Amino acid sequence: TETKPLYHRVLVKVSGEALMGPSAYGLHQETVDRIAADLAAAHALGVELAVVVGGGNIFRGVQVSKQGVDRATGDYMGMLATVMNALALAAALMRQGVQTRVLSALDMPAVCETYTRPRALAHLDRGRVVIFAAGTGNPFFTTDTAAALRAVEMGCGALLKATQVDGIYTSDPKQDPAATRYDRVTHDEVIQQDLKVMDTAAFALARENALPVIVFSIHEPGSISSVICGEGRATTVAS
Ligand code: UDP
Repeated sequence: TETKPLYHRVLVKVSGEALMGPSAYGLHQETVDRIAADLAAAHALGVELAVVVGGGNIFRGVQVSKQGVDRATGDYMGMLATVMNALALAAALMRQGVQTRVLSALDMPAVCETYTRPRALAHLDRGRVVIFAAGTGNPFFTTDTAAALRAVEMGCGALLKATQVDGIYTSDPKQDPAATRYDRVTHDEVIQQDLKVMDTAAFALARENALPVIVFSIHEPGSISSVICGEGRATTVAS
């Protein structure tokens, strides 16, 4: 089959959990390398690639806040976790010969570049993969919201949300064997039917800006390229 990208520029959201692989915590190097290879293959199609990484494999603000740390501080710890993941993913991409830059929403010039929109756009124009770290830079937000925000800021044709399942189902497929997968739904249907795609803030941003969100499985090798070419198992949310 002929594989031709449907998009000029996309943003891929990779959760921290995805980088954990079979481990219970932290980074699983083989898995990080495999995801980097999938991103490199997608980049080789000629698509401009932006990435937002999560941090849930290391720290989640809500979890640490249950142990006595205040929520905002816990969220900063979570944002720092995303920076570690971003560095690991960037290093894996660089090893595979892909020029990659990490841009952090929190200023840490000794570690990586600070996010500014013009800087990010310049890197993308030059064909570099840009990994956005530290989420939105604000507590009480998630990296899904950062993904929707950066996708809109960068003028991406779609937000590719890599998850543990291959799309959006009528109900939770892990609990309901009769659940079926949608190929396509609208932003409004997601809200009306209370389908779980992203948190409310993230989804509102996508909906207001008519940003297509494509949900697919990170476990399927080559799935990022497939989705970019409109192939493979996935659910597309579009207006
Ligand atoms: N976080 C935050 N603001 C942001 C993005 C992330 O405070 O804009 C914190 C928050 O505590 C979150 C953690 O960073 O729990 C890790 O991000 P997330 O849970 O979104 O990661 P994922 O679930 O994708 O691994």
